[in-house]
Amino acid sequence: MRAARVPEAGADFEVLDVETPEPDPGEVRIDVDACGICHSDAFVKEGAYPIDYPRVPGHEVAGRVDAVGDDVTAWSEGDRVGVGWHGGHCFECAACRRGDFQQCENARITGIAYDGGYAEYMTAPAEALATIPDDLDAVDAAPLLCAGVTTFNALRNTDAQPGDLVAVQGVGGLGHLGIQYAHASGFETVALSRSPDKEELASDLGADHFVNTAEEDAATALQDLGGADVVLATAPSAPAIESVIDGLGTDGRVVVVGVPGEEVSVDAQSLVGVRGGVDAWASGNARDSQDALEFSDLREITPEIETYDLDDVEEAYDRMIDNEARFRVVLEP
Ligand SMILES: [Zn+2]
Ligand SMILES: [Zn+2]
Repeated sequence: MRAARVPEAGADFEVLDVETPEPDPGEVRIDVDACGICHSDAFVKEGAYPIDYPRVPGHEVAGRVDAVGDDVTAWSEGDRVGVGWHGGHCFECAACRRGDFQQCENARITGIAYDGGYAEYMTAPAEALATIPDDLDAVDAAPLLCAGVTTFNALRNTDAQPGDLVAVQGVGGLGHLGIQYAHASGFETVALSRSPDKEELASDLGADHFVNTAEEDAATALQDLGGADVVLATAPSAPAIESVIDGLGTDGRVVVVGVPGEEVSVDAQSLVGVRGGVDAWASGNARDSQDALEFSDLREITPEIETYDLDDVEEAYDRMIDNEARFRVVLEP
């Protein structure tokens, strides 16, 4: 099969023929239709985790079950399935025994612990699979398995109720999905962006308000709207996150999903005054991914994507890492 792999940390991709993997017991093989390129793939490309190289990245995988390993009863050949960041769990640790598979102490990350979706085929543990709804195209489903579930799951795990003021900071890869989920969830939705040219798009995606933070103070604008119940922080920038904290209303929460490379400093007094907090959220388990896919299908929420052949992986990756893509980059192996 063709695969795009990283030979060692910091090296260029190599696209080559490798042996097609066979599923071990408890695993399936997936015929990959589409795989999103996510900013977290930089961990593999640049080498931030302990990783056995060479490694095929990719944790936004949409495809079809192509072969079923021993002891797998839940999946059959031909099933349309996706795999996200959560690439499997042990069922035995304290978190797993409580059913909190996302927090498994031995959780495996797709495309990091084992080869991911930048390839024609990959294998994955059965417990890491989500069903893809029939009507959802593979290229659209792929980014929903990381960017989608992250924003969807972060929002639905807040205390926000329909009608509450929910701001989405950043109208990019995560933010353009976050706005759609916030709108579809019945929240009064605010888009915060430094790019005034995103206003029309934000409105099309369902934002009720747009704040151009290059010209207007984000916190003041949110207070003028009554104070935010939730700010979903998708732009990986500490100053951007710090700028919204004074925009929280009573019991408001900033939920960080885009992780800045630098520390975020918080004035505790601002939080004490509103009983507020700064929280964080990471993706979800396979069932969360399936919920995100089903909700997206129900409400016709799709990512804006650019698609590339596997052979153009270097160009595709550069589009993502240089922040030039609009908005998610998807390989079609
Ligand atoms: Zn990701
Ligand atoms: Zn576990």
